[in-house]
Amino acid sequence: MVLDKEQLRANLDEVIWNIEEARITVSEHHIVKLVTVAKYTEIENIQTLYELGQRAFGENQVQQLKERMTQLEELPLEWHMIGSLQKNKINNLIDLRPALMQALDSLELAEELNKKLEAKKSKMSCLLQINAANEESKSGVSVEKALDIYQEINERFSNINLKGVMTIGAHTEESKLIQKSFETTHGIYEKLEKDGATVCSMGMSSDYTLAIKCGSNLVRVGSTLFK
Ligand SMILES: *Cc1c(COP(=O)(O)O)cnc(C)c1O
Repeated sequence: MVLDKEQLRANLDEVIWNIEEARITVSEHHIVKLVTVAKYTEIENIQTLYELGQRAFGENQVQQLKERMTQLEELPLEWHMIGSLQKNKINNLIDLRPALMQALDSLELAEELNKKLEAKKSKMSCLLQINAANEESKSGVSVEKALDIYQEINERFSNINLKGVMTIGAHTEESKLIQKSFETTHGIYEKLEKDGATVCSMGMSSDYTLAIKCGSNLVRVGSTLFK
């Protein structure tokens, strides 16, 4: 549905206000970045959000990312890849030069990505995705292995710039469990700060204020903006 500017303005204002309220409870200095996830919505809405001041957008499929980056290439937008990357799409993603690939979810993918980056003499900033609630339905490295894998990628794969971690909150109505998955991920992030991690990406429409209170400094918000 293509939304009019006033509706999008109201939705965006609400999200920004909620972010503000949550981040202040952490610290005056805790800055949170908003990446709007446009995967469900029309391209017109992205353009309107840009007019309203929003710059960073996320997509979860390489093909859709490519179409939108091409159609909106005139605008100075920052694009994030937030979905699982299939091996046969790696070269396509490299050519798109996303600002941040948030879903690096295994050592094997890192190895493959690094090889192809090297061949193209290119680099990519990435987040290591953590499967914090150990859910079968989700991709990501396990909590137990996250620190080791992060360091191994840092040491072995010089074309990948690891910037931090990403998680999707536990899929449950129980906010205690969602909170736990965020706290676990933030705990890993804190240990990685000495290795240069600066991004802790947690929180979507249903749980971004909780995620911020657990230390998230990047939220990926989609559906609630397009209602
Ligand atoms: C779709 C998606 C989001 C946004 O989800 P909403 O619930 O619509 O806010 C965030 N992160 C990832 C990885 C997604 O795939």
